[in-house]
Amino acid sequence: MPLLRQLEFAFEQFATRVFPGRNVVVGQALRLPHRETATDAIAPQSCGRDAKLETKARELLRSLGANRIAKEIRIEWNPRLKTAAGRADYRHKLISLNPQLLEHPAEIDRTLRHELAHVLAQSRAGRRRISPHGPEWQHACRDLGIADEKRCHTLPFPATRYAPRFIYRCPNCRCDFPRVRRIRRAVACLACCRAHNGGEFDVRFRLKLLRL
Ligand SMILES: [Zn+2]
Ligand SMILES: [Zn+2]
Repeated sequence: MPLLRQLEFAFEQFATRVFPGRNVVVGQALRLPHRETATDAIAPQSCGRDAKLETKARELLRSLGANRIAKEIRIEWNPRLKTAAGRADYRHKLISLNPQLLEHPAEIDRTLRHELAHVLAQSRAGRRRISPHGPEWQHACRDLGIADEKRCHTLPFPATRYAPRFIYRCPNCRCDFPRVRRIRRAVACLACCRAHNGGEFDVRFRLKLLRL
């Protein structure tokens, strides 16, 4: 598999040249300032719970008086979602988002609010059964600032066109990072770089290509 080896080689070269570790002498001049490169080369979280989005969701719900649900709600990235942009599980107070949204950052907020509207509508309705995209949900959408939201869970971009062909995995947390295009540089897992290296690039958490 020459392609694979080639990619690995590219990773290797990039890694030794730009991220040599703190005590290795670098032979070549760097084209990019180190900090900028490091930020660029860290992949955003694509599986597991997202603390930032959870904070945002809690604030939104609290501002609407839904304090109990604000406390319980969890937001996760779930690579197993295929064509759905998001999913709301009221029983477990869990909202799942499709990591493909990470390549279309503008859609993340809207999808989050769409799913929050499901949870908010059901919490207001109590034990009463409501239809998924009925008037209660529409009301919740208005409260959450997406009055014109349509009843649709499919990705807001053509899934076939953007279907990830490359799956990368963090060797530490085993998170998968689906990508439409091949990564042509050393990229590390943000969650692990944050947890174990103060948020800076760490070659131990470099993403590895799983399959083409
Ligand atoms: Zn929905
Ligand atoms: Zn990781």
